[in-house]
Amino acid sequence: MSDKPEDTLDRRDFMRASIATVGASAVLAASAGPAKAQNVAAPSTETAASGLKRSVYTGDVILGKLVASTLDIGDLGPGRKHLLYFQGAQMPTGQHWNVSVIVAKGVRPGKRITLVSGVHGDEMSSIHTVQTVMNQLNPEEMSGSVMAVLDVARPAIESMQRRWPNSGRGIDLIDMNREWPGNENGISAASRHAGLLFNRLLKPNSDLAIDFHTGATGFKVAAFNIGDRTLPDVKIMMELYPIGQIWDYPAYPSVLHNALVDVGIPCFTPEVGAARELDPDKIALFVEGTMNVLKNYGIIAGPVGRTAADSNVFVGNSAFPIIASQGGFVEHLVQMDEEVTAGQKVAIQRNTFGEVVAEYTSGVNGRVAGLRSDATCEPGNPLGFILFKSATSAGADAYPE
Ligand SMILES: [Zn+2]
Repeated sequence: MSDKPEDTLDRRDFMRASIATVGASAVLAASAGPAKAQNVAAPSTETAASGLKRSVYTGDVILGKLVASTLDIGDLGPGRKHLLYFQGAQMPTGQHWNVSVIVAKGVRPGKRITLVSGVHGDEMSSIHTVQTVMNQLNPEEMSGSVMAVLDVARPAIESMQRRWPNSGRGIDLIDMNREWPGNENGISAASRHAGLLFNRLLKPNSDLAIDFHTGATGFKVAAFNIGDRTLPDVKIMMELYPIGQIWDYPAYPSVLHNALVDVGIPCFTPEVGAARELDPDKIALFVEGTMNVLKNYGIIAGPVGRTAADSNVFVGNSAFPIIASQGGFVEHLVQMDEEVTAGQKVAIQRNTFGEVVAEYTSGVNGRVAGLRSDATCEPGNPLGFILFKSATSAGADAYPE
């Protein structure tokens, strides 16, 4: 959750976001130099014999990186990493929100997997997870490709906030993970940005995808994956992570991983701990899991590491929210990932005099999957949520808010 008042009032949206939106240094150094980093000799607007549009470069070079407005990773040379910017929506000044893209292109044919981060601007561990995976790849030993799209909501990242600052009627804040698949002719820059990325970068270049997130500002979450386990590849990928929780939930429309599923690209969302800061322990778990995914699909070689089977994962399909009835200071009585039982007291609240003004209990047997990390809250704020198993899958919309 952001510390912005708009967010604290938008509780339903927040819960959806925090739950359901719910992750070779030498090689890198070599390819981080000026324009030589790029494997493309000149900007290209060619059309392939197949009739499919190939990569289009704008002719700009920014910080030594070429800028593409359409990317076909089939155009890129094998056995190396390609660092480039993808041209997103324009700013009011006419410049573009360019997004950082790394493609590790293998020397043999194979699966194309896409790793996305930064759809929310305060989720740093998601970006670092993807950076770490990319740094461990050696394209000369790879089949297929791994594409990283690191900083999707550029203006939100610039100000370390969850949402995209939209200047349509004075600044308001748009949640980029309610915009997919976007619309290149949409009525906001965020919608157009999503449309450009979806149509010209993500969809054409992905056989599988993972959209990494974290908790929100003011609200931390356990290490968990969320996705629809009825989709075979989603189930396989989610269970390759040595994490404590999986939320089996076909998330609502307009989130990125669902929009990708809708066009036939299996995708899910890892949640890599708290927002704003780097969480090295959780990052390590999600890096290990992502490397497992790449091994499972034959993109890289090597034995699969620890998986959900090794971490005794708890699989739930519903989340029980603990909603503040009072304003005041929050004291949690349970830890993240702790097993709780129905009726167990999980939090209390004090007023400014130190008097206890509210006590909160879990309504279910389950695991603590999220806790408010800001010490104060307003009535209506979520203080936590408990992942549990329900006879009927109850998603964000079923919360007794
Ligand atoms: Zn997020």
